[in-house]
Amino acid sequence: MRDEDILTEIIDYGTPRRDRPSLATVSYADLKSGAIELGGEMVRTSSLSSYRRARAVAQELKAWIEEGKMELALPTRRIDPTKRVRPMRETAITPRVRDIMNRQVISITEDEEIRVAAKRLLKDETNHLPVLDDNGMLVGIITTYDVAKAVVTDGKLRQVRDIMTRNVIKTTPDEPVDIAAQKLKRNNISALPVVDTTNRVVGILSAIDLGELFGGRWWR
Ligand code: SAM
Repeated sequence: MRDEDILTEIIDYGTPRRDRPSLATVSYADLKSGAIELGGEMVRTSSLSSYRRARAVAQELKAWIEEGKMELALPTRRIDPTKRVRPMRETAITPRVRDIMNRQVISITEDEEIRVAAKRLLKDETNHLPVLDDNGMLVGIITTYDVAKAVVTDGKLRQVRDIMTRNVIKTTPDEPVDIAAQKLKRNNISALPVVDTTNRVVGILSAIDLGELFGGRWWR
């Protein structure tokens, strides 16, 4: 088995719940590379134990076992498979992105003219357009900020693909809203496309939706 084949979850221990959300699935090879991408940011990683030290310990133990200095003990008590373990009760239910996201997504394709994007943003009174490719997959995001910047910086930029942000920070319907809110804050943005497992946009979550959540709509 190679490091690439060993997968593990990045768990957010900042969330005070038993079922802490998984922020990403990565391989040991990713972790050992020294950095992983998390929510659009590069985060430094390192091995929990030194490989060299772990090998030295393993060799030492192996030698003890072979020389008969150490015996492997039998389990002191077996786990009873017939017993049910009851998890601790959750005291608060955290809403998920699907509970508050906007399902009517106004999007655009990457080959459209920037002017079309500007009109759509104005007409639909929105600030964010997820950008889709010909197969309906999310490939970028464009905002009023990008359109305004294109107007003042370079008249030669024509299409949405010329100015869109390709590294889209997104969320999923199952993600707890507090995690999504952290993504907005950390990245200084105000909306996240909501994608399904095939990277199709099924909604959009904006700071306004979060505002309504904390304004009481969800709790009523
Ligand atoms: N306050 C604005 C906003 O909410 O998007 C502008 C600030 S933000 C730093 C501007 C840049 O963020 C734009 O280039 C835009 O394309 C990008 N952006 C906005 N939402 C994004 C998202 N979900 N993922 C990646 N980039 C995003």
